[in-house]
Amino acid sequence: MTARIIDGKAISQEIRDEVKTQADKLKKERGVTPGLAFILVGENPASQVYVKNKAKACESLGYYSVTEKMPGDTTQESVLAKIEEFNNDDKIHGILVQMPLPKHIDEYRIIEAVNPSKDVDALHPYNIGKYCETKSWHEITEKKLFLPCTPYGIIILLEKSGIEVSGKKAVVVGRSNLGGKPAAMLLLSKNATVTMAHSKTENLEDVCREADILVAVIGRPNFITRDFVKPGAAILDVGINRTEKGMCGDVDFENVKDVAGWITPVPGGVGAMTITMLMKNTLMAAERRLRALIH
Ligand code: NAP
Repeated sequence: MTARIIDGKAISQEIRDEVKTQADKLKKERGVTPGLAFILVGENPASQVYVKNKAKACESLGYYSVTEKMPGDTTQESVLAKIEEFNNDDKIHGILVQMPLPKHIDEYRIIEAVNPSKDVDALHPYNIGKYCETKSWHEITEKKLFLPCTPYGIIILLEKSGIEVSGKKAVVVGRSNLGGKPAAMLLLSKNATVTMAHSKTENLEDVCREADILVAVIGRPNFITRDFVKPGAAILDVGINRTEKGMCGDVDFENVKDVAGWITPVPGGVGAMTITMLMKNTLMAAERRLRALIH
């Protein structure tokens, strides 16, 4: 068997085109331009690239965006003051503080300072609570809740690829707040039977081989080999690892593609969706704000 490749780039472009159409309409008919503010603290090279790419995406969709660069020794109070400024700025619908932050800044304090209605990364406990308390994916979409961008992208990849989730066994390897945990919650909302695995899981290979849908969010190059994979399973690789040979995922793609039914490449799979889902959340934030002003 050779797995079908889930083309994250093509699916991402499809979503971006839809977002652009809706954003253009919002601008033309209601005079509202979605606005996104980035706060970048310090000189982390990867963070600089991420923020640059996100700002570029804003430009391509005609969004308004501001990037606030703050030196690495900026105090927590200054970052909080900047967040408050953006919380009160009507042109800004979404605020993204690029993680990780320097060690002297408490990330939780920063996340909680962002107004939940502008938390387009869905990291604020209020927004986490909202999508965790809902019973179904239908309810999540009806209520237009903010969802964390990478796990949101995973669900869209599954939907667009026509992969059945309801009733299936899903195993998520990794339990970080940004990756594994929310991915498991969203799969649950789609009625998967979800197992969360991590570094303490016993017999990890056996646990993974049960999965119809296997999500790897680990941060270990080529960790998932064919021994972890049930024939025909859908494999979603969230890992982005930089090695001497270049970028690779958490899944040993060459080895696994002959066993799996579906697989995402790295790059061009899950990673291609993250910024697009951020753009979708920002559009939703602008639409929500407009609705709140009308009612
Ligand atoms: P993280 O916070 O370091 O979490 C890694 C998780 O993997 C932890 O839960 C850990 O378990 C688990 N783990 C580590 N070694 C393991 C092992 N040998 N067996 C089983 N589980 C193991 O990392 P993260 O932020 O979730 O990121 C993971 C990867 O996804 C990274 O490569 C990152 O770059 C990538 N990522 C990509 C995107 C994107 O595409 N845009 C977004 C987010 C993350 P314990 O909890 O037990 O320690």
